[in-house]
Amino acid sequence: MKTWVYIDHFNGQVVGASWEALGLAKTFGPASAVIFGVGLGDLAKQAFEFGADEVLLADDASLKDFRPETYAATLTAAASAGPNLVLLPNTSRAREMAAMAALDLNSGVLVDVTGLELDGEKVIATRPIYEGKLFEKITCSANPQFVTLRGRAFPRPASQPGKSGATTHLPVAGESLTSVEGYEPGESGVSLADAGVVVSGGRGVSNNPSLGLDEKATAQKGFELVAELAGVLGGAIGASRAAVDAGYIPYSSQVGQTGKVVSPDLYIAAGISGAIQHIVGIRGAKVVVAINKDAEAPIFQVARYGVVGDLFTFLPALTAAFKKKLGK
Ligand SMILES: Cc1cc2nc3c(=O)[nH]c(=O)nc-3n(C[C@H](O)[C@H](O)[C@H](O)COP(=O)(O)OP(=O)(O)OC[C@H]3O[C@@H](n4cnc5c(N)ncnc54)[C@H](O)[C@@H]3O)c2cc1C
Repeated sequence: MKTWVYIDHFNGQVVGASWEALGLAKTFGPASAVIFGVGLGDLAKQAFEFGADEVLLADDASLKDFRPETYAATLTAAASAGPNLVLLPNTSRAREMAAMAALDLNSGVLVDVTGLELDGEKVIATRPIYEGKLFEKITCSANPQFVTLRGRAFPRPASQPGKSGATTHLPVAGESLTSVEGYEPGESGVSLADAGVVVSGGRGVSNNPSLGLDEKATAQKGFELVAELAGVLGGAIGASRAAVDAGYIPYSSQVGQTGKVVSPDLYIAAGISGAIQHIVGIRGAKVVVAINKDAEAPIFQVARYGVVGDLFTFLPALTAAFKKKLGK
């Protein structure tokens, strides 16, 4: 089995799931890291240190920004003579190029995969369906097979500083009719997809009459408490759709069916009732902690630890306790 792993990055910042994919590939045998962009020397070094046996670079000014036409054409050209299996992190960029390259190569893509095994040359993937209620096992007989992996579903390999290997340069294929004029930040802080800890706020953050503030100002105070705890734990800030729809926090923080799917080690839900559309976004969380005034709230059914109480009282107490414990 010849496996390639596409290392997805933005301006040199690698999407963590790329290294997880590399770790998985190494369990199947030798693995090559494939990196596109410009000025990729440091990324090649990191790829070797995370276990790549070989690095394939398309390092060219025309690949400075992700453009699906050029990226997919370059991957198609290279993969036509190369691997049996191409693993990619499940980002929208990687999904787009995998779909285009698979179409050009008359192959297929298995997306959002959370488990992968080999049966001889056959790849058998496990992925959640019906909002995570069932896991299906699927296979594809095409070659090369493209598979996108859900972030944090596979362990990240340990880095081996100083490890190196052979680098091969790939020619750029295709031409892009579009170009990027610039970027504006849409979300700041720790990325929800990669976060080991997520602290989320729901509509409950706007419920504290004792502050004597209007709804939005109260919600701002509530999210300040959420942010403070997330900051102490080095985590990301999440939200329910109700909090997003009410304008308390941008959509980029929404967790759930129509937001982001997260798989942290620890998920803290404050003032969130636990509607099914929210729960489907946190099924991959290892430990869920719920803070809610209502002991009957459905979130307690999925929580390992539940606190029946007011988030405005409990969050500051939890933050103070963690600060003390972590020496911050
Ligand atoms: C097609 C569709 C897609 C959807 N997609 C999503 C999605 O992606 N993500 C998502 O989250 N929702 C989604 N929803 C909405 C979902 O159904 C719920 O309406 C939403 O999750 C409710 O958000 P909430 O729990 O913050 O608010 P509520 O249901 O209003 O719950 C607020 C909770 O806060 C508690 N509370 C109040 N005050 C306090 C306090 N001071 N301290 C502690 N607890 C307090 C209350 O007891 C209550 O349980 C979707 C709905 C549809 C129809």
